[in-house]
Amino acid sequence: MVKAVACGAAIRGFESPRSPSKIRTQDYLTFNFELTSLNKTFCNVLTKTIQEEKKTPTDSSIGSYWITTFGCQMNKADSERMAGTLEKMGYSKAIDEFKADLVLYNTCTIRDSAQQKVYSFLGKQIKRKHSLPNLKLVVAGCLAQQEGESLLRRVPELDLIMGPQHVNNLENLLERVDSGNQVVATEETFISEDITNARRDSSICGWVNIIYGCNERCSYCVVPSVRGKEQSRYPDAIRSEIQTLANNNYKEITLLGQNIDAYGRDLPGSTKEGRKKNTLTDLLYFIHDIDGIRRIRFSTSHPKYFSKRLIKACYELDKVCEHFHIPFQSGNDEILRLMARGYTIDKYKKIIENIRILMPNASITADAIVAFPGETENQYKDTLKLISDIGFDQVMTAAYSPRPNTPAAIWNNQIAESVKKERLKEINELVENTSRKRNQRYLNNIESVLIEGLNPKNTSQIMGRTRTNRLTFIEIPKNTEFKYEFGDEINVKINEARSFSLSGQICN
Ligand code: SAM
Ligand code: SF4
Repeated sequence: MVKAVACGAAIRGFESPRSPSKIRTQDYLTFNFELTSLNKTFCNVLTKTIQEEKKTPTDSSIGSYWITTFGCQMNKADSERMAGTLEKMGYSKAIDEFKADLVLYNTCTIRDSAQQKVYSFLGKQIKRKHSLPNLKLVVAGCLAQQEGESLLRRVPELDLIMGPQHVNNLENLLERVDSGNQVVATEETFISEDITNARRDSSICGWVNIIYGCNERCSYCVVPSVRGKEQSRYPDAIRSEIQTLANNNYKEITLLGQNIDAYGRDLPGSTKEGRKKNTLTDLLYFIHDIDGIRRIRFSTSHPKYFSKRLIKACYELDKVCEHFHIPFQSGNDEILRLMARGYTIDKYKKIIENIRILMPNASITADAIVAFPGETENQYKDTLKLISDIGFDQVMTAAYSPRPNTPAAIWNNQIAESVKKERLKEINELVENTSRKRNQRYLNNIESVLIEGLNPKNTSQIMGRTRTNRLTFIEIPKNTEFKYEFGDEINVKINEARSFSLSGQICN
């Protein structure tokens, strides 16, 4: 660890012995940078540290914790790892957010609404902190990365602000908090192999990060600036994590990455045909034989890189489920060009066609954005048309939200809020209808469902997912002869198909 002061305008991280109620932004600050190949901006000028008395650590450093996760699956996977670290440190899970000794918000900033939600949650904890000064408040994730030090100015009650690249370093960061510092950890860093055991929410299905960050530059998206450059994990480390999950009776794994098709681009080695040695396709073959794991999923796919080789692998490998989440974002080529997505609608349709040639029943889900700057009524209608043409199983929709440090946010052809609302409402209705129609194909089918647990809203039912990722509710048979365990795959005859879920009965 080297102490250095950041050069240039972007202050990426600091640690400040705190004065209880105010932040001293005028002082020199001490910056802690981990020296890695990824740290581009630092200079070796030692700085004056703030001379203040340090807070004495108290017994309250070990107590109960609460984590609220906002946003995507990667955030959920990060939260599980942070929960694992906290439990290893001696914290126990609190039963109530408002009774916890440490509250951690793992945040999202993909849209402004996600960001505002975090501030509203924080408001309530800040009130608590005024009467409970030993309460530890941590903001992790993408909002933490985006706002960094300025978040401390807005919320001086915070103890720790940490970007997604620092998840594996939580224990160390909290030790610095316990020494009386307010800590901001947002510098770009090499994500070391995970040494903590995640405290996973499910004991059946496990998430496995295979690539962090994103090197794309979609003109609307904040992810590259908050999650940093692509960093692929080595295949051996991934296999070993999956093996551990299998040893612990996990049955399903989902490989995660913001752009999962980019997996391996940054790893060494090429084949004699000239392609990268460790692609997502190669990884699927490499992990497929792990005993005990019955289902393999992956997300999120990018149409620019989705290959025929990958489709063939998914077809050939029994455990790889027939569900593909491939966001198209817009149904219009000109909007796709402005979004800097790097594919056309023809190419997108070709991918779906190729999937359906080999796996006609595969479910296809996607993300779409309406009211991107300058989107005309006709261009928007192209998105509706694509949804009907493809017949998606599900589409996650959003109205465009301008994000900091993204090109499209400063274009002068933003769409009015009223139009955004209308388009979102209309597209959601279409998605719901399309999904309902599409789900009718399951009626009277016998589907293999992996049982994940009881339906929390109706405990006379168990619930699980089909291979195509359809949530399915199953009435528990009254006869006591039927024995099952969570994690079993059972055959279910589907008797009801709604837009977002199915119901059925066990068949022997
Ligand atoms: N990597 C994925 C891809 O290439 O499509 C998407 C990951 S992003 C975390 C999840 C979704 O958020 C995107 O697919 C997009 O639909 C939505 N999204 C991202 N930025 C947005 C913005 N500025 N406004 C509205 N929706 C946005
Ligand atoms: Fe964002 Fe584009 Fe990267 Fe997806 S591929 S995370 S949309 S920049």
